[in-house]
Amino acid sequence: MSKVVKFGGSSLASAEQFQKVGKIIRADKERRFVVPSAPGKRNKSDTKVTDMLYSCYDLAEQGGNFTIQLLAIQDRYNEIIHGLGLKISLDEEFEKIEKQFRAKAGKDYAASRGEYLNGIVMANYLGYDFIDAATVIFFDENGNFDADKTNEVLSKELAGHKNAVIPGFYGSMPDGSVKTFSRGGSDVTGSIVAKAAKVDVYENWTDVSGFLIADPRIINNPVGIDTITYRELRELSYMGAGVLHEDAIFPVRQQGIPINIRNTNAPEDNGTWIVGSTCQKSKYVITGIAGKKGFCAINIEKDMMNSEIGFGRKVLQAFEENGISFEHVPSGIDTLTVFVHQDEFMHLEQKVVAGINRLAKPDTIDIEADLALIAVVGRGMKSTRGTAGRIFSALAHANVNVRMIDQGSSELNIIIGVANDDFEAAIKAIYDIFVLTKL
Ligand code: ASP
Repeated sequence: MSKVVKFGGSSLASAEQFQKVGKIIRADKERRFVVPSAPGKRNKSDTKVTDMLYSCYDLAEQGGNFTIQLLAIQDRYNEIIHGLGLKISLDEEFEKIEKQFRAKAGKDYAASRGEYLNGIVMANYLGYDFIDAATVIFFDENGNFDADKTNEVLSKELAGHKNAVIPGFYGSMPDGSVKTFSRGGSDVTGSIVAKAAKVDVYENWTDVSGFLIADPRIINNPVGIDTITYRELRELSYMGAGVLHEDAIFPVRQQGIPINIRNTNAPEDNGTWIVGSTCQKSKYVITGIAGKKGFCAINIEKDMMNSEIGFGRKVLQAFEENGISFEHVPSGIDTLTVFVHQDEFMHLEQKVVAGINRLAKPDTIDIEADLALIAVVGRGMKSTRGTAGRIFSALAHANVNVRMIDQGSSELNIIIGVANDDFEAAIKAIYDIFVLTKL
């Protein structure tokens, strides 16, 4: 058995947090490969090292003096190094970084130094080997992650190390320059390393004990999720439930490696298991609820629409021509509704309407704004009768008007459209009926 362990920025924000991490790693010999983020916030008003690097580099790029800003970053590392009683110095590294900043080495190079330096500190602290991610994680000339080349080089490299630290968030382009994943990308690195090392578990350590059934900003103290499938997670994260970077799912999913989300500040908690499939029932029929505000519905009507072949394609073509992606397209006999993101659609509204008129010649087009979509997700729904009924009676009791219903063909989720203003009340009502009432 072996494990990849990834630690997020808040787990590595100070020497004290590093010590917790050290304890976790040393408690289990299987934790062979470690992927650190850059130091995050020590408290609410603090700044992440990655953000410090971005703004420091901005200054450098404008030709300004960035000495003070760079020193402040070095101080963050020195505080950790001294707090841990380590003997290393990052002076030479910072000299190099300063030179590269002056030579305008790029924003990605700048941001990646947060993880790079933290990897050096971590390797020294643990007595593990250090592997620079730029030598084992690759992007192609278009800037897309090169999974095949990476897997080949990385798995060979890892085979030569009993224990190693591989910094998260970045890799290199074919010309050798550094490129990062999008923000939060250390999660992705962890997943890539887990795949290449063929480990049994990818542990992702953060500052919460796994996923929650609903957003804690809406539900007071929501219940945690013990086990979730990749597909359920995909539905929930698409709808806005964050914790793990979306792209982190793919590499491990291909290999059937489970992800275990854990809390560095409460290592005794089991956290959430993300798995390919499971016979474990979710406790409450539903696994999670998530949603997003800010959608527009374009309702299109035309008599005898049902028998007009190609009508849907013509309508959608008007959106495609304007570069707008649609979210849902529920339809009736003579009506079809297209849900889109309001901010993407607003400024192109009249062009799209003109396009629909030209291409599909409908009787009427009616636009509704300020709608929210809520996804109720659960692998248990397929085999449980009455789930939709419970959702709608709960919403009716809460005086929430349901504007749209869409049950995914996988029967894994039910999507409900409500007014933006009803969003929170709707989520509360659904949570209450499934989790609190536990019928
Ligand atoms: N440090 C990077 C960020 O703040 C990547 C990460 O933490 O995963 O986005």
